[in-house]
Amino acid sequence: MLKATKIRLYPTREQAEFLNRQFGAVRFAFNTGLRIISHRYKRHGQSLSAKHEIKKLLPIAKKSRKYGWLKEADSVALAQACINLDKAFQRFFKEKKGYPRFKRKRGKQSSYHCMSVKVGDDWIKVPKLEPIKAKVYRPVEGKLKSITLTRTVTGKHYASLLYETGQPAPAPLKDVDAASVVGLDMGLSHLAIDSNGRKIANPRFLKKGQKNLKRKQQALSRKKKVSANRAKARLRLAKAHERVAHARNDFQRKLSRQIVDDNQAVIVETLKAKNLMKNARLAKHIGDVSWHALTAKLAYKAKEQGKHLVKIDQWFASSKTCHYCQHKMDAMPLNVRWWDCPACQRRHDRDINAALNIKHQGILKLKAEGLSVSAHRGSRKSGRSPVAA
Ligand SMILES: [Zn+2]
Repeated sequence: MLKATKIRLYPTREQAEFLNRQFGAVRFAFNTGLRIISHRYKRHGQSLSAKHEIKKLLPIAKKSRKYGWLKEADSVALAQACINLDKAFQRFFKEKKGYPRFKRKRGKQSSYHCMSVKVGDDWIKVPKLEPIKAKVYRPVEGKLKSITLTRTVTGKHYASLLYETGQPAPAPLKDVDAASVVGLDMGLSHLAIDSNGRKIANPRFLKKGQKNLKRKQQALSRKKKVSANRAKARLRLAKAHERVAHARNDFQRKLSRQIVDDNQAVIVETLKAKNLMKNARLAKHIGDVSWHALTAKLAYKAKEQGKHLVKIDQWFASSKTCHYCQHKMDAMPLNVRWWDCPACQRRHDRDINAALNIKHQGILKLKAEGLSVSAHRGSRKSGRSPVAA
C-alpha cells in the first residue's frame, strides 16, 4: 500500500539557492514545452506530445551552450515536468479543463525526485544536494518511493514523501451495516450535514480567516500594477491564504479521521454548483476547495481501512425529494429551511433530509456494486424517522 506524508524542510541558504535554481529549471522545462506545443499547433497544426517529443529535447538542450545550465538540476525533475505538462494537456482534452498555463516565478514551486532519495530522523536526501534538515514527525515505515519538493509563495519549503508500506491494503468490506453508513450533504451555512442529524459547522477561526482573506484581496486589487506595495500586499494575501489553508487542513484531518473511524461507508455528493450560487465568488471558491479537500481525505482514510467512499451524481434531487416516501417536490427555493411533505405529511429539515437521501442513494450504489448492505438494526438512529426540530 502506498502512503504519503508531508514534512517541513529547513534548507541552508546555499541549499535554498540551489533549490531555487532547480525550481527554475523545472519551470523552464514546463513553460518551454508548453510554448513549443502551442506554437507548433497554431502554425503547423501539429500535435506534439510533452511526454514524448518534448522530453526528448531535454538531453539535446543540456548539450547546448545556451541551455547547458539545465544539467545542474536533477534530470528526473525535468523529465517529470514534461510528464506533468502532458497530464495538463490530458486534463484539457479529456476532462475539458482549461488550457495549460505557464508556471509563474512567484507562484508555488515544485520538483519531483525518485532516484537516490532517502529520509532520516531529521533530514531528507535528494540528488545533487547534501541532506536537507527536516522535521520528521513519524519515521517512514516502508520503502521510500519518491520525494516531491515544494516551496510555497511565502517561501516555506516542504517535502511530500511517498512510500510503500509493504503491507497490502485491507480488502474492501463486503458486508456493510446500514447503520454504519453516513450520508454527508454540503450546506450553505455549514461545512456538512450528516444523515444522523449532525451539523458540522465551519469553525469560527476559518470564518474569521476568510473574512481577513477578503479584506487582503481587496487591498491588493487597490494597489498599482507594478509597485513595491503591491508585492507586499500580495505576500500578505499569500500568508493569510496559507494560515487559512493550514487551519482548514488540520480541522479536516481530524474530522475525516472521526467520520471514517465511526462508519463503514461514507456517501458524499459531487458538488452542486447551484447550491453555492448565492455565495460570492471567493466564498464559493473556498467552499469548493474545502469540499474537495475533505472528500479527498475521506477517500484516502476509507481506503486505508477497507471502508467505502461513495460519490453520488449531482443530478440526484437530494433537496427536493422526501427521504421517507420519495415524493419529489417541483421546486425547493434556497431560503426554505423546513418543509412538509404533501404526500406523507412529514416535516423535514432541508439539509438533514438531503443527507438522508444521499445516504440511501449511496446504499443503492453499494448494492449495485455487489456489496451486501444489512438492514437497519441496533440502537443507532435508523435514519427513517423524521428528525425532530
Ligand atoms: Zn414524504
